[in-house]
Amino acid sequence: MIKESLAQPGTTIQVGADMWRIRVPTPFPGLPSLNVYAVCETDGSVTLVDCGIDCPEGLETLAEGLAVLGKTVSHIDRIIITHGHIDHWGMLPRLLQHTDFTLCMSEHYTTEAWSYTAPEEHSALIRSILCEHGTPPSILEQMFVAPSLMPSYFPDGVPAPDVIIQDGDKVPIGSRVYEAVWTPGHAHSHLVFFHEASAELISGDNILPTITPHIGYDGRIGNPLGDYLLSLERIKKLTAGVTFPAHGGTISDGTQRSVDIRTHHEDRLTKMQSQLQNAPKSAWEVMKVSFQRELMPFQQRLALSETVAHLEALCKNGNVHRVENDTILYMASLP
Ligand SMILES: [Zn+2]
Repeated sequence: MIKESLAQPGTTIQVGADMWRIRVPTPFPGLPSLNVYAVCETDGSVTLVDCGIDCPEGLETLAEGLAVLGKTVSHIDRIIITHGHIDHWGMLPRLLQHTDFTLCMSEHYTTEAWSYTAPEEHSALIRSILCEHGTPPSILEQMFVAPSLMPSYFPDGVPAPDVIIQDGDKVPIGSRVYEAVWTPGHAHSHLVFFHEASAELISGDNILPTITPHIGYDGRIGNPLGDYLLSLERIKKLTAGVTFPAHGGTISDGTQRSVDIRTHHEDRLTKMQSQLQNAPKSAWEVMKVSFQRELMPFQQRLALSETVAHLEALCKNGNVHRVENDTILYMASLP
């Protein structure tokens, strides 16, 4: 069975009274499609939640999906972006060449947008973090070769939002009014949209059905995993039911999925801490034990970044401390 997270682009299905899911392509081998949610408004216009990356077939696939609703790209009147990763917003500049729309983004959208608008500075920052956490020099350069890092997918700039969405804002989408909930962690700018009466949630990447979203560390946000665990706690408190993620199939119980993902991270935190009981280790050494399967260099980069996010969360809780060295080492703290 093909995992739903690996769902191929091109299919469009109705998922609500006035909402359709359009699968648009991404150039990432492990994640070939992104779910755009298209909602028909009572005035005949269309609101999109996310719009996809600007890859060659992207706009064509989006237009074919809109045709299933009897709409065209020119009906798009508003686009709401869940977070600042390029597979969610990269098509905006191209869409603006075809039609005018109101763009709604989180007040924190520049946090991630910076990595696409200043890719060299971003790469230098990531390189220094990978080095100081023990990456062997022989692997370092290979870690920067991946389709998701190809500048050809990076637009020249991020369009400025017309509407800034803040935590708690009421956002009408179709016939419903959703509450915007700030859920940092996977991305600092991340928003989900909750409809209280139906308990339905549009979750972006905050919770995904068959994979856990990447929680990385780039030094700019002190404790992204801690932020993410609090975001999962918020989803649990909402008691989210049917949940529409940005990748893969619909989740029947969003609250349960948020609990399962939290358990996965807590388990990983415990295991990483136990690796540090007897001797200090670098994040690279911890990663090699925690992620045992064979990883390609770019996957090793993601795994190391995620390991640092976990170790920093353990530091913030006081369970582990850093031993400053040329290579940063971590050691379990005495109980
Ligand atoms: Zn993302």
